[in-house]
Amino acid sequence: MKYSKLFGKTIKEISREETSVNAKLLTRAGFIRKEVAGVYNFLPLGLRALNKIAQIVREEMNKAGGQEVLLSSLQGKENWEKTGRWESFDALFRLASKFEKEYALGPTHEEVLVPLISEFISSYRDLPIYVYQIQNKFRDEARAKAGLLRGREFLMKDLYSFHADEKNMMEYYEKMKKVYINTFNRLGLSAIETRAAGGTFSKFSHEYQVICESGEDQIIYCPGGDYAENVEIIENPEKLENKQCDLGHGSLKRVKVAEVGNIFPLKNKFSEPFNLVYKDKDGKDQFVYMGCYGIGISRVMGVIVEVHHDENGIIWPRSVAPYQAHFLTVNNSRSTINKAEKIYNNLQKSGIDILYDDREVSPGEKFADADLIGIPARLVLSEKTGDKIEWKERNKEKKELLSIEEAEKRLKEEKEL
Ligand code: ATP
Ligand code: MG
Repeated sequence: MKYSKLFGKTIKEISREETSVNAKLLTRAGFIRKEVAGVYNFLPLGLRALNKIAQIVREEMNKAGGQEVLLSSLQGKENWEKTGRWESFDALFRLASKFEKEYALGPTHEEVLVPLISEFISSYRDLPIYVYQIQNKFRDEARAKAGLLRGREFLMKDLYSFHADEKNMMEYYEKMKKVYINTFNRLGLSAIETRAAGGTFSKFSHEYQVICESGEDQIIYCPGGDYAENVEIIENPEKLENKQCDLGHGSLKRVKVAEVGNIFPLKNKFSEPFNLVYKDKDGKDQFVYMGCYGIGISRVMGVIVEVHHDENGIIWPRSVAPYQAHFLTVNNSRSTINKAEKIYNNLQKSGIDILYDDREVSPGEKFADADLIGIPARLVLSEKTGDKIEWKERNKEKKELLSIEEAEKRLKEEKEL
């Protein structure tokens, strides 16, 4: 992609309303633009990063047996009344149509999926089954804040699992704990598995929390990794704080965190109102057991920026970067430009996603924009580099001179990872 043609450019000044690091950097770098409070448009760079995140999550859900669907955002009121959540779901957007019908704008999808899947589950042989989607959710949040961290419209992955009994549900729940940690690792986030309250139907749930100043939650955890709990459910958090870990890992810590995902044993909470039953081996009707598993895809993008940046801009983990390499020239002489065009075309032909800053602006401006945008590898061509190019990684100081072939080989290898 040539920067001169890119829809979405870097800017220096942004609205003072944006106070979080992720909203400031992503707006300045040309990834997102606010529509209204809590609602963002994704420009091409932003969508590329968002799609990379979604794709990693999709791969992990597929490996865990998930089948992808796309459910409706506009949902009939009747099913929300059946579960009682038309009244009780605080952040539900309720829409009145001019044709005298009312709808919910989907904040989550049990009310759609459970009645739908009941058409396909009749016997124990139909279970277990795992269904997920990656879709915009809508929630009338009291306070939308911190950029992508809490929106009124946001992208979520939600997986729902359906089982014959509680044991089978819990086996999958335990399996998903590992899948989640692995997924967040691939996304460049080290998430802490945290015990949290379960609501009306289960004693517990688990949240995946990333240490981060703009996060809204607090947890107390053992850095040794054997304990983590959301402060909200701890009776006397002050007593726990700084207590020594029973296993000798030192003192427990209290930190601010952002929840990037959570998993819930739903048991029969939704199978009862929709009479989601199956016939067991004796031909008797039994309620289906369910679990649900969410990941906030757009929030993940915000958290990645909160965690991976410096004073000059974003530092994308390779796995989710919008482009693999950011290519620029220091001078704009005819011969340099000609050489650069060739290198750009060749790299593109060999399948490297490359952003080429082809503008006639000062080198300082190009370097500053490269740092702000945060693509992992920066390649520079100048009179000084001759037939070679300078290779610098966004998160390192070291600069290397590589032949074009060496640079291409390295980029290809990184792509395979
Ligand atoms: P939170 O505790 O942050 O309000 P939640 O417990 O309501 O979230 P779920 O309804 O289970 O979360 O949603 C699954 C995931 O979706 C969350 O773990 C979070 O990463 C993300 N998410 C939830 N609400 C928002 C929001 N308003 N904006 C962006 N992401 C969100
Ligand atoms: Mg939560």
